[in-house]
Amino acid sequence: MGSELKKPEIKFTKLFINGEFVDAVSGRTFETIDPRTGDVITMVAEGDKEDVDLAVDAAREAFDHGKWPRLTGFERGKIMMKFADLIEQHVEEIATLDALEVGKLFLLNKLYDVPGSADMLRYFAGAADKIHGQTLKMSGAMHGYTLKEPIGVVGLIIPWNFPAAVFFFKVAPALAAGCTMVVKPSEQSSLSALYIAHLAKQAGIPDGVLNVVSGFGPTAGAAIASHMDINHVSFTGSTEVGRSIMEAAARSNLKPVSLELAGKSPLIIFDDADINKAGEVCVAASRVYVQEGIYDEFVEKAVASVKYWKIGDPFDPEVHQGPQADKKQFERILGCIEQGKKEGATILTGGKAWGEKGYYIEPTIFADVTEDMVIAKEEIFGPVMSLMKFKTIEEAIQKANNTKYGLAAGIVTKNLDIANRMSRSVRAGNIWINCYSALDRNLPFGGFKMSGFGKDLGIDSVEKYMQIKAVVTPLYDSPW
Ligand code: ADP
Repeated sequence: MGSELKKPEIKFTKLFINGEFVDAVSGRTFETIDPRTGDVITMVAEGDKEDVDLAVDAAREAFDHGKWPRLTGFERGKIMMKFADLIEQHVEEIATLDALEVGKLFLLNKLYDVPGSADMLRYFAGAADKIHGQTLKMSGAMHGYTLKEPIGVVGLIIPWNFPAAVFFFKVAPALAAGCTMVVKPSEQSSLSALYIAHLAKQAGIPDGVLNVVSGFGPTAGAAIASHMDINHVSFTGSTEVGRSIMEAAARSNLKPVSLELAGKSPLIIFDDADINKAGEVCVAASRVYVQEGIYDEFVEKAVASVKYWKIGDPFDPEVHQGPQADKKQFERILGCIEQGKKEGATILTGGKAWGEKGYYIEPTIFADVTEDMVIAKEEIFGPVMSLMKFKTIEEAIQKANNTKYGLAAGIVTKNLDIANRMSRSVRAGNIWINCYSALDRNLPFGGFKMSGFGKDLGIDSVEKYMQIKAVVTPLYDSPW
């Protein structure tokens, strides 16, 4: 590390409003920090309410009078395909920005997240000309039909965990629907969104259709949630902020919202599981229930596997785990680890910060975790795994569902009956059998319970950016 640290040139740090990069009205900027070192990468324009107002005005003009919503779906799709090609031609740049700002592994960004985003655009481009209403036979001599219309100007609020990917979870279906939009990336990860904005312009997406306002949540984000001229807000982030967005939406113009919030997703490993498969799968899980017959062997393997787990610079292709996204997350995760210790869980490995600088944390495994401990209940969003034992399938179901969240669940078993019963019984939006965190552009993603509502991904996600209009006209001359 040290002198070899990758420090790319940063081209886009201003707000993108009406097709132009502009300073914030206030002239203010904020620091974005390299989590490898804690050093400032660059200053980014700090958008606030006035900037959101300007962006919404541009989006409103583009919606009410511009060509984007009036193009045929096929024509919109063609432009989105071009946008996708440009994303693909700039994979390295986008992958670099996300690695730089939030410590995500460069190689994974380059191989999966960013090319996956291009394909997501293509998928929704293909959907753009397949959106249509229905023709209805009415009880009287009337002709009825429905129109599916873009809902209008949408606000899209993005978190830092998958900055480029979640940007497209929301932007791609909203573009397909014919909406215009104001995107607010997380203050931890503004750079990829601003970079992508210049590619949207190159692709021929008209000015005002896609605006990006970087800035903080309680200012720029809150201005989106309470804006009187935004017609839908799609949000991914914490449950607490999701609640405040829904409140703000209710208090302002009753705009519908869709929320993809926190999870505390269980991974349930049954006695018959292939232990190596369970090992691969458990890497991403935070709440791991292991059936008593293989518990000891599993614990041993999990601890041993950490020895091969390389922490370090996210640009190093050998590294498995980069730094946490920022100081706040870093401190929060260490706080959760302390809490776990205090509550009596046993640390099998890890448990502290790694290295001399930056926001690195050792992979941490807790055993003897009980249901009432905070580490078993609250989302940690870090390399911390809690291991718990169970005996029967009934107990596994009860424990998996013993959470206010319902984002996802993983099941590891070779027994089809167990897999079927678990997948029907666990109340979560996504179930992964013998795999984990498997997302796909055509598979709906989103939670139950306090993990939110309104799916991202999947063809139906276009619907939340549309509204149905019912049209009726008399049929005087026809008996039908
Ligand atoms: P996390 O804690 O994972 O960063 P947050 O929910 O705090 O998740 O942030 C997710 C996104 O929501 C970010 O873009 C953030 O700026 C934004 N945000 C935070 N607070 C608010 C708020 N009060 N209103 C609207 N958006 C907000």
